[in-house]
Parts: sequence; C-alpha cells; structure tokens
Amino acid sequence: MRTGELGYWWRSLGGPPARRAPLPGPREADVAIVGAGYTGLWTAYYLKRAQPSLEIVVLEREHAGFGASGRNGGWVSGFFSGPPRVYDRSTRHERGAGRKRGAERERDAGRERGTGSTGYAALQRAMFETVDEVDAMLEEFKLDADFVKGGHTAVALGDAQLLRLQAGVAASRAHGLGDNDLGMLDAEELRARLRVAGARGGTFSPHVARVHPAKLLVGLAATVEHLGVSIYEATPVEAIRPHEALTPAGSVRARWVVRATEGYTAALPGLKRALVPMNSSMIVTEPLSAQAWAEIGWDGNEVLSDGAHVYAYLQRTADGRIAIGGRGVPYRFGSRTDGRGATARATVASLRAKLHAMFPAAAGTPIEHAWSGVLGVPRDWCVSVDADPRSGLAWAGGYVGEGVAAANLAGRMLRELLLEERSALASLQWVGRAPRRWEPEPLRWSAIRAVYSLYRQADRSERRSGRPSRLGRLVDAASGRE
Ligand SMILES: Cc1cc2nc3c(=O)[nH]c(=O)nc-3n(C[C@H](O)[C@H](O)[C@H](O)COP(=O)(O)OP(=O)(O)OC[C@H]3O[C@@H](n4cnc5c(N)ncnc54)[C@H](O)[C@@H]3O)c2cc1C
Repeated sequence: MRTGELGYWWRSLGGPPARRAPLPGPREADVAIVGAGYTGLWTAYYLKRAQPSLEIVVLEREHAGFGASGRNGGWVSGFFSGPPRVYDRSTRHERGAGRKRGAERERDAGRERGTGSTGYAALQRAMFETVDEVDAMLEEFKLDADFVKGGHTAVALGDAQLLRLQAGVAASRAHGLGDNDLGMLDAEELRARLRVAGARGGTFSPHVARVHPAKLLVGLAATVEHLGVSIYEATPVEAIRPHEALTPAGSVRARWVVRATEGYTAALPGLKRALVPMNSSMIVTEPLSAQAWAEIGWDGNEVLSDGAHVYAYLQRTADGRIAIGGRGVPYRFGSRTDGRGATARATVASLRAKLHAMFPAAAGTPIEHAWSGVLGVPRDWCVSVDADPRSGLAWAGGYVGEGVAAANLAGRMLRELLLEERSALASLQWVGRAPRRWEPEPLRWSAIRAVYSLYRQADRSERRSGRPSRLGRLVDAASGRE
C-alpha cells in the first residue's frame, strides 16, 4: 500500500502536471491571490469573467492543488459547516454594518412570512445552487471531473445514530428544508440503494455531487489560465501586507490581496491563531470485482457517510473503487502541517476496519493508497469571507471539512465584494463576520485532542447502549460545534 505522495487522486492522473514557472520578480497587478486551491482559483475565475481586463496573479508555494483541494473526499456538498445559530445571530463587525442591515431586513421579513428565511436558510439555498453552478462550469468548458450529482446518503449504524439523524432532519425543517431537500430512508429504502451491514436506516439529500478532486482542480486551473490569469508556482508568500504580497522574488503590489491559504494560514505572520489546520485522512481500495459491486449495490453513485460523532465519508469512484476518509491524528502541536500526506498506520487500520464493517464484500479487495491533508477550522466552525477596501486585504475560508462547493460560493462573494457589485451574495452571513481567535498553545492542542478523544468515547458508548450519548452532546456544546 502506498502512503502520502499527495494521495490517490493525483497518482491516478500520473502526478500533478509539470510545475508552472515561479514569479520572476517584483510586479504590479490589480489582484494578487495567495494560494492556488479551489478558493484562489474560483476567485480568479469569477473576477476574470466579470472583468476580463483585470490583471490577476495567483501565487502558490507548491503547485496548484497541493493542499486539501487535490486530496479531498470529492463531495461537492450543498451543505456547509457551522451551527445555524451563528449565522442567524448578528455577529458582523462595524464595517459590515450596511450589509448587516440588508441581511437582517431579509431575515425579519422571512420570519414574518414564516418561510424560515433566516441568515442560515438563505445561505443554505445559495449552497444548493452552488452544486449546479459547479456542474454548469464543467459543462461549459467541457471538463471531465467524474462529476455525478447522485446525492448524499447518511447511514445509521445503530439506533443511537438513527435518532441523531432523525433529530437532524427535524431541525432542518426549522430552516425551511423539505422532504425533497433532506428526508429519512427506512431500512428497506436504504437497502434498495445500497447494502451497508448493520444499517438501521438513514437520510437522503439530492443536493450533493461526487467529483474526482484533482480532475476538478486541473480543469479549473487550466480554465483560469486560459482566461488570462497568471499562476506562479513554487512561489511562497512570506507575508501579506496592505496592497502587497511579499515573496523571495520580490513583492506583488496590488489593489487587492486575497488570502486563500485555508489549512496553511497559521504559517503566515500575524495569523497563527486564525485557523487551525485539522487533519483528515483517506484510504482507497483497488477496483472491486463485479460480484462485490452486485452485493453492495450503490448504483446511484451518491456519496455516503455514517452518523457517528467521528464519522466516515465515502465515495464510489468512477473507476470502481471505494474511497473512505475520516479523522485520524486530528491536529499537530503548534499548527504544524503534514507535507505530502503520509498517514499513520493506526489511522489506516481504523479506516480499513470501518470499511470492512460497512461493506464485508469489500474485505477481499486490497487497500491501494492512504493519504492525509489539512483543512482550515475557525474557532466558531463557521465560514468567513471578507474584503477591506482600505487595506485591500481580502480572504475566504474556514470551511472545516466542506470546502469543495463552499469555495465556489466564496469565490463569487469575493467577486461581488472586490468589484463592489450590488447583489445578493455579499449580503449573506459568511460576509463580514469576525470569529475570535483560537487559544494559544498548549491549550489549543490539549483541547482539540480532548474533543476527539471524547467523541470516540461517545461513539463507543452509543454502540454499547444504542442511545445517543450525552457526552457527545456536551462536547458539541463545549467545542462550539452546536
Ligand atoms: C482528506 C480531506 C478530505 C476532504 N473531503 C472533503 C469533501 O469531500 N468535501 C468538501 O467539501 N471538503 C472536503 N475537504 C475540505 C476541502 O478539501 C477544503 O475545504 C478545500 O479544498 C479548501 O480549498 P482552499 O483552496 O481554501 O485550500 P487549499 O486547497 O488547502 O489551498 C490552499 C493553497 O494555498 C497554498 N499556500 C498556503 N500558504 C501559502 C503561502 N504562504 N504562499 C503561497 N501559497 C500558499 C497551499 O500550498 C495550497 O495549495 C477535505 C479535506 C481533506 C484534507
């Protein structure tokens, strides 16, 4: 089994394409974007399409897609991270006051109409549309990224998980979601879709697609370049200052500097406690036999998860494998990141055990590759997008584990903010928030380790008792996730 090497997605393409040239020396631009993941590239894409005359440069320390965007589980999900209460509450700072008033008016009107049109609900609708927006762009440029909008099934592996999934569906009704957005599946309905050992039922939502993450990245980067954006690779940005990104080859001075560095943000001066780099790890099998697929089903290609606190996420790949991911080593002291994604044996063993428990028919198929990556987690677990016209500093991120589609919406929000367009997206509640910083070390490390160890304990207790664990709820509340 291979481990690291940036993961299976890149290897399936024969590795990342040849490196683009680094920044040759100091230069000026209208917009400098730091980081060539989905956030940086979607931002460049929407800005350039809106104003083709803009000079946009993307500065990438390694190569486009080196980060989570080239290593993820391939869920293009219409759902997003963070507790609804944060988006429904007014947390905007002074500069966002104008936008806040607009959003609040919409929210209040929604409440009066009884449509559940809260700040959260409006974001939810925008995210549902985002999945189709990604699809439309792939169609327009004839990019093949194995995109299939088969939806998402969450399976309940036990009665406690079933109760939690039911509670999640009930809560979604308060935000205006109907059965067609997120509904329950009984055990029979679930079996008609796919056979998961020990499943008691589950949920289904149509608002999620599957994608090959690296194909999406490669296609997006090529499109952005074709539109006339310059992508400089092997170009580390050492500091971001008002209207300036500093690199060893010199500065890029620009009207706007956009930070799109997600899990790597802590390494930039002044941002050590802004986003925590949380690890997520994946393994992928060799292609399963036709007989194994006949036993499993899963013909709809929906993405899959279980309902545990430390949950697993899965996809059936276009080439007939199962890729499964989950939390391994959650966090490294001092916000260190993990290079090319080598993965601990214990993490591989626990993902393999989960895969075989869910799909005994896959037990005879070897695991081919294991890898890890870092995602960016803000202290309140909620996405932020913002742009300050005075300093020219802009940023987007904090998607936790759900940035594949969210980065597209964030890119469109940044287009509106930077071009001062008057439109609905920049009034949504990701914009203008001021999440507080993470605690300093060693508190940060101890707290994150404790949260995941308690979640694991809660999962064990649920397996024994069949009832939702109070410990799990307490940890949700204490960590700010609920
Ligand atoms: C294993 C794993 C599975 C996941 N599964 C899913 C999933 O199925 N669905 C989902 O929605 N989300 C998933 N996520 C999260 C998702 O991949 C991310 O939210 C998303 O890719 C973030 O994109 P980004 O462009 O903001 O960040 P990244 O893709 O991390 O890009 C940041 C880029 O910035 C560059 N950079 C950083 N610092 C500097 C600097 N100083 N100078 C220059 N360049 C710099 C990095 O090299 C990197 O290329 C997963 C993440 C992981 C790790």
